[in-house]
Amino acid sequence: MDSSGKPSTAQVVVLATSSALTAIFYSIYRSRATTVSRLKEAKKVSIDQDLKNILSETPGRCVPYAVIEGVVRSVKETLNSQFVDNCKGVIERLTLKEEKMVWNRTTHLWNSTEKVIHQRTNTVPFGLGSHDEGIADTVRIIRPLDAAELDLETTYENFHPTVQSLSNVIGHFISGERPKGIHETEEMLRVGDSVTGVGELVLDNNLIKLQPPKQGFCYFLTRLDYESLLRRQGNSVRLWRILTVVFGVAACSTLLFILWKRYMHHRQSKKERSMLEEFKEQQRKRIRELNVEESSVSPTSCTVCLSRERSCVFLECGHVCACTQCYEALPEPKKCPICRATIDRVVSLFNS
Ligand SMILES: [Zn+2]
Ligand SMILES: [Zn+2]
Repeated sequence: MDSSGKPSTAQVVVLATSSALTAIFYSIYRSRATTVSRLKEAKKVSIDQDLKNILSETPGRCVPYAVIEGVVRSVKETLNSQFVDNCKGVIERLTLKEEKMVWNRTTHLWNSTEKVIHQRTNTVPFGLGSHDEGIADTVRIIRPLDAAELDLETTYENFHPTVQSLSNVIGHFISGERPKGIHETEEMLRVGDSVTGVGELVLDNNLIKLQPPKQGFCYFLTRLDYESLLRRQGNSVRLWRILTVVFGVAACSTLLFILWKRYMHHRQSKKERSMLEEFKEQQRKRIRELNVEESSVSPTSCTVCLSRERSCVFLECGHVCACTQCYEALPEPKKCPICRATIDRVVSLFNS
């Protein structure tokens, strides 16, 4: 804060950043909160013999946002794990990640980083069936890879370390990058896994389908049950709310601080103006008492006696308004006649 009462660049930056972050976090919080409230209102549908009949009687043969819980059943073929025997699934994701240490020039430390160098996801058509084996009806899952929260089970994991020779090691120190190795994983959604799907449920030519819902609704496919999914989404809403509140408070306090400083500055300058007015009024009174012409008083004459030249500076206020004799005659504690600040020191002026 400089003497003009204007906010400093740092304060403006803090205010702008915290306001922008508050707005961003608030919009994320709003959208997450909407997702949770829609998830709570979604219609719970159980997979049983009546499902087809219920859907055929529903307007449009469609439930816009439905929750179904069931077990994964393949439609025709299944995918076999490439690493584990007798492990069959309907989604298989193979990932190769390169792990390396990178030298950070600022912190002077080796940081571990990883980069996906290859990823492939295979799917075969699948549906969700009832936990009750006797019910043959299944709900076909459409575009499962579009779903949020698609958490697959890690079926295989292996780390292939990079073989290091001495010349390599020297090269790594020069380049600032040291490869650790390749991390290989296989993740699957297995046949028989319990899955919760939330989306649009439609009856299309005798086939029940769960598909991505219309704009604004979130498509979920998760191995969590409905209650756990709701809890996890609720936790994320809380996190964004806390971040919004923290940054909102920071933005408001910065704004209040800037306004308060401006107000204080405004009050101070108003006080100074009124004191100066009062002083001038007193001086005019004194001119009348001394019975001299206002124009005959030199602008550099002492403002107290109006006869001698001003000859000292008052510190810390810096006013040059009196002669040394008048300064000595001021009552204790000595105060500047113009601004009434306490005079800590006085410095004589020598005109040459
Ligand atoms: Zn004087
Ligand atoms: Zn002063």
